[in-house]
Amino acid sequence: MTFWPSVVVATPAHSGVGPSLTYRSELSLAPGTLVRVPLGAREVLGVVWDCPATPPEGLTEAQTKPVAGVLEGLPPLNARWRQLVKFAAQYYQRSLGEVALAALPPQLRDLSTVQLARRLKKHQAARNAEATPAPEDGTDGHALSDEQRDALQALAGAQAPVLLFGATGSGKTEVYLRATQRALAEHASAQALVMVPEINLTPQLEARFRERFEPLFGTGALVCLHSGMTPAQRLASWLAAHAGHARIVLGTRMAVLASLPGLRLIVVDEEHDPSYKSQEGARYSARDLAVYRGKVESEALAAEAAPLRAGPHPSPLPEGEGVNTPRCQVVLGSATPSLESWHAADQGRYLRLAMPARIGGGELPRLRLVDMNHQPKGAVLAPPLIAAMAERIARGEQCLVLLNRRGYAPVLACHDCGWKSACPHCSAYRVFHKLDRTLRCHHCGFTERVPRACPDCGNLDIAPVGRGTEQVEEQLAGLLADVKRPDGGPARVARMDADSTRLKGSLEVQLATMHSGEVDVLVGTQMIAKGHDFRRITLVAGINADAGLFASDYRAPERLFALLMQAGGRAGRDAAFMSSQGAASELWVQTWTPQHPLFDALRRHDFPAFAATQLAERESAGMPPFGHQALLRADARTQQAAQAYLNAAARAAAGLPHAGDVTLYPAVPLTIQRVANVERAQLLVEAASRGALQRFLAAWQPVLLDCRSLPEARGLVRFAVDVDPLAI
Ligand code: ADP
Ligand code: ZN
Ligand code: ZN
Repeated sequence: MTFWPSVVVATPAHSGVGPSLTYRSELSLAPGTLVRVPLGAREVLGVVWDCPATPPEGLTEAQTKPVAGVLEGLPPLNARWRQLVKFAAQYYQRSLGEVALAALPPQLRDLSTVQLARRLKKHQAARNAEATPAPEDGTDGHALSDEQRDALQALAGAQAPVLLFGATGSGKTEVYLRATQRALAEHASAQALVMVPEINLTPQLEARFRERFEPLFGTGALVCLHSGMTPAQRLASWLAAHAGHARIVLGTRMAVLASLPGLRLIVVDEEHDPSYKSQEGARYSARDLAVYRGKVESEALAAEAAPLRAGPHPSPLPEGEGVNTPRCQVVLGSATPSLESWHAADQGRYLRLAMPARIGGGELPRLRLVDMNHQPKGAVLAPPLIAAMAERIARGEQCLVLLNRRGYAPVLACHDCGWKSACPHCSAYRVFHKLDRTLRCHHCGFTERVPRACPDCGNLDIAPVGRGTEQVEEQLAGLLADVKRPDGGPARVARMDADSTRLKGSLEVQLATMHSGEVDVLVGTQMIAKGHDFRRITLVAGINADAGLFASDYRAPERLFALLMQAGGRAGRDAAFMSSQGAASELWVQTWTPQHPLFDALRRHDFPAFAATQLAERESAGMPPFGHQALLRADARTQQAAQAYLNAAARAAAGLPHAGDVTLYPAVPLTIQRVANVERAQLLVEAASRGALQRFLAAWQPVLLDCRSLPEARGLVRFAVDVDPLAI
């Protein structure tokens, strides 16, 4: 007997290949089965989507090729996973194959069936060797605070996604740990997915999860999934999750698409973080997909449970446990939620649970605004700020200095002829890195040694303009040179940014020197502001806060507020330490616009007030989350071609169904319009409803493909649709 499996393979969104290809097979293959199939001259990995016993109409045996092999030992990807992938592909306007295959570990693509079998055997052997601990009961770290207990109780009965709005230091991690513990206890095969924004956040969180769960479930019970892992590690984690051996997956946004057959809980920590939105390929929001996934998994669990419930002996509801339907709970946590999630909670689509108090009754830092208009000319760091830092250091406290720009100076310039360190490949300046004396483009990576003299006029006196973390680190070391720590040693300043943490393991080392108290002042980019549980920091300073506010992006205030609140959230986290020191923690902000209303809300730590004002503005302007947006982006050899393509696509849209429901704006160049010699432009699409936008985009997709071959679009390199873009 012959079957006709339709198989999805990795095809780029715009290759014109349909959603799946039909092959032949002597065996009936379950949907979700991983197979290897011939494609052109190659053999590629594919996922069986369907396996009918009759060929699609018009297709003959001669026109199809047989499936080359089945990946034995791997259970099929389940229907919920396939539904998630299908939704993601549709919603973000990509091909099914692209999304499905990108969700699988890259190594799975390259291994032959024989190699894979060997790999699986090795994993099984490793698993057998693992000690399975004697089941202890819930090793719980702390006695819960009242707020934590209330939140957990509400969570247990929640039927909607939960927005855990917990102040910095309110103990959200403990809530995640307990919620995980509870979810895993529900069923022997239950799994939890815990997502974090960036991998630099994970060392501490990962340690807490391991400490809590390895004694309960063994060393293989928790696996990580993120892009910093080797292909072999990623495959191992993925296999463990897919087989159900891993009970907890801790990962970055990519983990939302992992195969987790027993999924019962999804935690999205720091849910406001922009890194949950992918910026290439299918530009998905892992947070939004997490919410969708929770719904799909819950529906499936409810459907499985329904026949049991309806049976002759319905199982009684346990006391106080609320509704007994098994669910896949979604928890979004943040001290500064995204306005999208906040709005969803306002509308009752999410359940908002607040934990306003810090553990131990600690206070949030006091705001100290420094009006830079009244500081000595050219001062990078205001004298009162330096004095405050010196005092803190002398008392054995630590400080954090935030500056969102790495390198020594953003530009190197010649004051004689006006030469600037422009990147020859981008419409951007190369950043001066003093430590290794290079000029580096942060967009395309182009790097050269710093010239001895001005390349245009030979002037020897070329000078840095503006400042980055390297320079601030250097200046601070000088300004604090005479300050002594309580042990009599000199104050120590360190820096943490993408440059200082490039080497594997260096981030962990730098975090450790901060935790141990070896370092007194840490200068860094936003990576120092996120999630860390530092215990001895009492002063945090944002020294170029304004930069964010002058950006044209309508999300700039939201970003800045979150950044400052999160940065401030690193100060004064240990209530006992604070009271022994006898001084309140402080958040210093240097600004040229101290009258900006954002600072009032920040002073009061009043996120709800800030969110209400922002949402009111967004509503009157029809901006997200009230209106819905997508960007059509084009990369081309010339700016003219990029824009011509976009404008042609807009003209061609006029005749489409649903075109009346959307507004198309003229094409504009991106802020940094050229990167690596590619010109970039974009076109904004707006609609009043998500559905209208989706209907239009679906109708537009074939037009976008056709427009590529228009004469005016010659030189077009690629186009992409970004649904729910983070920046416009
Ligand atoms: P958040 O993520 O909300 O900023 P954390 O989860 O990092 O806060 O918790 C802040 C600190 O409080 C951590 O050091 C944590 O170990 C501690 N902590 C959390 N819950 C409790 C508790 N119930 N009792 C004592 N300490 C706690
Ligand atoms: Zn010059
Ligand atoms: Zn460049």
